[in-house]
Amino acid sequence: MTDTNHPAGVLAPDGPPPVPEGASQADGGRAEADPGTAAWDVAAIRVQFPILSREVHGRPLVYLDSAASSQQPLRVLRRVARYEREQHANVHRGVHQLSTEATEAYEDARLAVATHAGAADPAEIVFTRGTTEAVNLVASSWGGAFIGADDDIVLTKMEHHSNLVPWQLLAARTGCRLHFVDVTADGTLDLDDLDRLLERRPRLVAFTHVSNSLGTINPVREIVSRAHAAGALALVDGAQAAPHLLTDVARLGCDFYAFSGHKMCGPTGVGALWARRELLEAMPPYQGGGEMISEVKLEGSSWAKVPHKFEAGTPNISGVVGFGEAARFLASLGREAIASHEGALTRYALERLGAIEGLRLFGPMRERTSVFSFTYGDVHPHDLSTILDQRGIAIRAGHHCNQPLMDHYDISGTARASLYVYSTAEEIDALCDGLAMAAEVFRGIS
Ligand code: PLP
Repeated sequence: MTDTNHPAGVLAPDGPPPVPEGASQADGGRAEADPGTAAWDVAAIRVQFPILSREVHGRPLVYLDSAASSQQPLRVLRRVARYEREQHANVHRGVHQLSTEATEAYEDARLAVATHAGAADPAEIVFTRGTTEAVNLVASSWGGAFIGADDDIVLTKMEHHSNLVPWQLLAARTGCRLHFVDVTADGTLDLDDLDRLLERRPRLVAFTHVSNSLGTINPVREIVSRAHAAGALALVDGAQAAPHLLTDVARLGCDFYAFSGHKMCGPTGVGALWARRELLEAMPPYQGGGEMISEVKLEGSSWAKVPHKFEAGTPNISGVVGFGEAARFLASLGREAIASHEGALTRYALERLGAIEGLRLFGPMRERTSVFSFTYGDVHPHDLSTILDQRGIAIRAGHHCNQPLMDHYDISGTARASLYVYSTAEEIDALCDGLAMAAEVFRGIS
């Protein structure tokens, strides 16, 4: 199964990844790609990330945990600092100069984030605390208004808890039924199982664009079109896709798309929900308070227009400003160039990790991103992570908020290394050397 809605045919085993369709559209002319950086110069990129020059336990940091949180370039750090030092005020409320500047910065970030998502209308971008809050917003608002006890919702067994627990809460409130698309042995979604579940005529299919544990790139357009044909809406969890792939919501055809700033070179505590405007307009507010109203009387209130209807209270202004700058930073690198760099590194990592005896790699070999989950003999992933940390190598260990997926594979967790724009082949070598050393240590004590 192939899906051309991303540039990461990445992981076609030979040759460079195909040029993504719609690449120039993703930049939208609003956050232009810089042709000067077309040839990937990873050293020039790394110097823009001050944290990468620090040492950990006396060793140069090898940061292989970008799927959890990526690092921030100077450009983002400086933009946030400038906002805090020179422009800080509340947004949308004041007529004084600072408030005007803060509001402009905030709305300008909405434009950059909309461009990143391929959304033609910035009003379709609702700022949230992250992917988690974006999914909760839909489950609470859309789900609360339109889902009842007779309804079915289809999820998958590879969902992050963020795209699972909010639906469990909705099911507990409404009595609706949840169903889960199975995962095949190679870590892809079983689309025959999807078809079987679609015969129930569910109201929603909610699934991840990219698995945070397996790296699997799901065929979004295909799933969305099957969901629509069955009368369901489609929500896509884009947390692991927005940083790496072209996220052109118009091409993907979905109804909701959720993503986080901190996985795409932005600050923590900020993310976005993109949704089709008519859906946002039909949905009731998620939270009540200031900013989201048009008029308030003691007897009742009316709502502001979208997206403000969903942004109650003073938002995370500096976070949003940093998020927008991160989107522009990625556009300046070029989304195709990012995919190409990561594609080459992914091929290298798969080759090197695949050659290590006793290492079990999860997820498909093609149509995948640069996240590598593995077990290594019977060494506990936490022990592996601790040993690697002593060598300055940061990887993740545990269930990665994918407990049902871990159950599916009958494991308690994995070690996970993940790459990004600043990652290098030397870092993959360092990981493999660290694993070899860990093998020695555990041979010694077993
Ligand atoms: N969905 C996926 C696939 C993720 O990987 C993550 C974070 O790891 C989330 C959702 C939750 O993102 P956040 O914690 O930024 O809300």
